Amino acid sequence: MTTSATAPAATSPAILIEAVDKWYGTFQVLDQVSLTVATGERIVVCGPSGSGKSTLIRCINRLEEHQAGRIAVNGVELTDSVRNIDAVRRGVGMVFQHFNLFPHLSILDNCALPQMLARGTPRREAEDRAMQLLRRVRIAEQAAKFPGQLSGGQQQRVAIARALCMEPQVMLFDEPTSALDPEMVKEVLETMVSLAEDGMTMIVVTHEMGFARRVADRVVFMDTGRIVECAGPDEFFDSPRHERTRSFLHQIL
Ligand code: ADP
Ligand code: MG
Repeated sequence: MTTSATAPAATSPAILIEAVDKWYGTFQVLDQVSLTVATGERIVVCGPSGSGKSTLIRCINRLEEHQAGRIAVNGVELTDSVRNIDAVRRGVGMVFQHFNLFPHLSILDNCALPQMLARGTPRREAEDRAMQLLRRVRIAEQAAKFPGQLSGGQQQRVAIARALCMEPQVMLFDEPTSALDPEMVKEVLETMVSLAEDGMTMIVVTHEMGFARRVADRVVFMDTGRIVECAGPDEFFDSPRHERTRSFLHQIL
């Protein structure tokens, strides 16, 4: 059963989400959510607090399980099969609001150890790749420091480098700048813009609408567990179709 699921067709979308429902107990947090993301596409997801944005992206790497509908990542369907889940997680990088770096490990080890533990990469090779990605996010000179010695913006760039070290095909970001002081937001957004320019497939939950305008192929607005609106940025910002989207944009812009 799992054999065919781990051999994706070349034409698979990067992410397929089809009529997904999810409940926490009796509370329905996702309601018939469907979204197909092509390889290289950039999706920005916005919506009020509690609308299910985090739950949706956590379902994509199986940090949460959906109860109805289908989710497939790079052609691999998310089911209860452990083998599938490992295959999916290898291809999906995730960046959280609160960085989630290991405080007792150096920046270099934060980036190298996951490769060694999850993939058996030899230390030398893991450290080489870590340094390469730390240079990519312009923070290589901090490699010997510990997370607590870095600013929030620097820590978030390390978190991005750490995720990239696993060579993901898709990157998921859950409000990556909302815990940052305003002066640090820009450096993290610039890193994400550069990732987008390199063609990375990305789903970004954010309320940074300047970033959405600049980078997103499509902007998704969620409310009460549903995708209310999904459109290209020009249409989304200039002529949203739904009143709920308009009032949300009115509040945050
Ligand atoms: P968002 O990211 O849009 O703020 P979330 O996906 O975090 O929304 O949460 C959506 C809703 O689900 C919220 O009402 C939240 O309280 C609830 N929720 C989130 N996680 C859990 C959980 N583990 N158990 C029960 N309810 C949860
Ligand atoms: Mg959230």
